[in-house]
Amino acid sequence: MTLYAERNQCIGTENAFKIGPHIVAVESRGTPVVKLNLGEPDFSAPPWVKDEVCRQVAIDNSHYCDPKGILPLRQAIARQVNTTRGLAVTPEHVCVFPGGKPSIGFTQQIYCNPGDEIIYPSPGFPIYESFIRYIDAVPVPLHLEEHRAFSCAPEQLAALITPRTKLIILNFPSNPTGGVATYAQLYALADIIRAQCAPDVRVYSDEIYENIIFDGQKHLSIASMPGMAERTIISSGFSKSFAWTGGRVGYAVLPSVQEADAFKNMNINYFSCVPPYNQEGAREALENAQSRPWMAEMTKTFEQRRDAILARLNAIEGISCQRPGGAFYLFPNIGGVCERIGALEAYRGLPAAVRAATAPATLFQMFALYRHHVAVMDRRSFGAIGAEDRHFLRISIAADLETLEEGIVRLASASRDAEGFQQFVARGEHLA
Ligand code: PMP
Repeated sequence: MTLYAERNQCIGTENAFKIGPHIVAVESRGTPVVKLNLGEPDFSAPPWVKDEVCRQVAIDNSHYCDPKGILPLRQAIARQVNTTRGLAVTPEHVCVFPGGKPSIGFTQQIYCNPGDEIIYPSPGFPIYESFIRYIDAVPVPLHLEEHRAFSCAPEQLAALITPRTKLIILNFPSNPTGGVATYAQLYALADIIRAQCAPDVRVYSDEIYENIIFDGQKHLSIASMPGMAERTIISSGFSKSFAWTGGRVGYAVLPSVQEADAFKNMNINYFSCVPPYNQEGAREALENAQSRPWMAEMTKTFEQRRDAILARLNAIEGISCQRPGGAFYLFPNIGGVCERIGALEAYRGLPAAVRAATAPATLFQMFALYRHHVAVMDRRSFGAIGAEDRHFLRISIAADLETLEEGIVRLASASRDAEGFQQFVARGEHLA
């Protein structure tokens, strides 16, 4: 008998949380690290949200509450979703969770049987892939390609759908690429889904970056396309839009009340309810008239940083980076750097068992952290299947300009330091 259940060996993780100890290890040697690995806005939540939370705690709103989410919040969410996406959902279609994340695993558990296929974007938020083997479903990565501006090409999706497809995950604006879908793309994807999938195949549309969109574009949801509201789970939350990652409030809008109740039952089984004082803070976030301009200001700051940093990044030999349309990440191709410093060769020379848990871009990521003191995320952290031949990094622009500029300087010196890289690998430091 083994200590852990077999399925426990199958669950993945989110490396953004795992890189922390590496950063601590480097900083404990006395060298501060430039942290461009973070997936949270470097802003404070709006004061009216924080004040409301405090007020609710003071009036003792700190007991169990409706497991589906408090009604005033679900009403505010339904109103907001209907206004922004032209839908007609009721508060009973809404279920509230501690963050945007829980509905990813719940969706897989609620809809998928062993052997069902789940199509998901890769690179994409790691939790999509993490859960699939845990529930004994089959991962079908939809590789977002650089030459297609990381968009999800309709013909690509069409080729992946089979009679076993049960769930299709989409994420626009995208983590980690910053890709935003156009109306024409979503329309075409919806056409394919309606034509090739049975009505009980669900689309999980992760729209958590819906308010962080650049260049005057507007957020679009696949749920707004003809015939898609009845197939789509819209997921969003307050972590990114309101710089409130610690508030742990997110939600899903389900195609039917029965499905929303299935999610509510998961809430009852796992955590009973989300803290009611935080839910009141979230309600305030949606209802306060100052919130829209506040989000627009934060987005403008991200956009200005994108514009300031992109050219510098692209000036580094061996790096090319597209212009993201939303979220707060840059996703450069570092294939030229991996080649120049010998990361491709070093990777090929590793024992098979070590190779299975790394990639050339991961070797560079570790080298950049341990030797040049800049923390970024590697491509593998956003879907490991097929990642070894794709050489990318994710750079978060959730840091002030000075920090970002210093980070780019450090990445540039790492990208030229072939000798340091060889030593790093020879000493086995990449295995730290
Ligand atoms: N989806 C995506 C695409 C994300 O990037 C994140 C957070 N990084 C989440 C979901 C989870 O958000 P939360 O912190 O609200 O659980």
